Amino acid sequence: MSEGEWNLADFEIGKRIGEGKFGKVYLAREKQSGYVVALKVIFKAKLDKYRYHAQIRREIEIQRRLNHPNVLRLFAWFHDEERVFLVLEYAARGELYELLNSLSHFSEKRAATYIASLARTLAYCHEKHVIHRDIKPENLLLDIEGRLKLADFGWAVQSNAKRHTMCGTMDYLAPEMLEKRAHDHAVDNWTLGILCYEFLYGAPPFEAADENDTKRRIVQVDLKFPSTHCVSVEAKDLIRKLLVKDSSKRLSIQEILKHPWILRNADPSGSCSE
Ligand code: AMP
Repeated sequence: MSEGEWNLADFEIGKRIGEGKFGKVYLAREKQSGYVVALKVIFKAKLDKYRYHAQIRREIEIQRRLNHPNVLRLFAWFHDEERVFLVLEYAARGELYELLNSLSHFSEKRAATYIASLARTLAYCHEKHVIHRDIKPENLLLDIEGRLKLADFGWAVQSNAKRHTMCGTMDYLAPEMLEKRAHDHAVDNWTLGILCYEFLYGAPPFEAADENDTKRRIVQVDLKFPSTHCVSVEAKDLIRKLLVKDSSKRLSIQEILKHPWILRNADPSGSCSE
């Protein structure tokens, strides 16, 4: 599938399954094959308003090149006068964020399974020189079997060199990005530490009443483990070894996958049925 080969008439449009800043996402079925997909409809006028064209182009280019079981597939895209359509893999269980909200926090088994899936996904992305830079629970979807799917490559970059742009959501930002220093793929490793904490405690570690406080806490790595939650020593050890200010001293992806907490808890199938 590529640009020009598809148009809206090829799809039966079903219910709306989500809404983002630039448009809506619908369940859809490709008429000939019967294949169910998620069709993301983006209004060009909104792209103009927010000067988002370059980001959408980047999202399309990067996501089309990635082919990994934990990366949401972008099968095709096409456009008409007013809209851009992205034909995406359908993640039937929706956002991980909603699951986290409903459970308030995850068990160690579930958290480790997701962190291991993410680590394997990042190993693949980094091998392709893609840094996601905006990993957060809202950008993680779950398929029908509960496997994690990394979505939303709007902030990703394909690069070998160190970068300087600040992007992403404050709570998940690595100190080098906040301080506008050069950064590389190790920003995604920091974010794995943030997510691991959030999965186990239900909130990211440097959350504060205002953004300046969050920023200060991140830059100082003001990490606390509240005793309200019963979290294992090994899980805390992994978090401490990822939330390290010096990016060159953070655990590598391969070291994460060999960490005792991951080996003990992660389900190798990548899905969590508890
Ligand atoms: P977005 O515009 O990418 O932020 O998408 C808005 C919302 O639509 C997301 O938060 C999801 O809840 C839902 N959504 C987006 N893409 C998919 C997909 N491929 N499968 C299922 N739900 C999706």
